[in-house]
Amino acid sequence: MRPRREADRISGGRGRGVDFSVVGPTRTCVGCRKRAPASSLIRFVAAACGDSFLLKADPSRRLPGRGAHLHPDPACFALAERRRAFGRALRLAGVPDTGSLAEHIRAVSVAARND
Ligand SMILES: [Zn+2]
Repeated sequence: MRPRREADRISGGRGRGVDFSVVGPTRTCVGCRKRAPASSLIRFVAAACGDSFLLKADPSRRLPGRGAHLHPDPACFALAERRRAFGRALRLAGVPDTGSLAEHIRAVSVAARND
């Protein structure tokens, strides 16, 4: 009888904690360190570029590899850069090239403001 009880406990829908169908997954912004719904953050990954790394925004969230998240806000980008949070979040050796990601953040934050 015990195995059955175990199964009941696992599948029994007495939900405790977060209702993921409403909230969805949350991620931590590497800039301000606040948690936010993954859909409101920009995912980015590091692409190897010669001896260093290039940070690349991943709007479709489909690029392979370790990703990190950031608010589409230049303030969060600046915070993350100052604290060298990019390399740490992505486990990179050295300081990555953030130019392309900076450009993306600037573009989406401007677009959001004109909305
Ligand atoms: Zn942030």
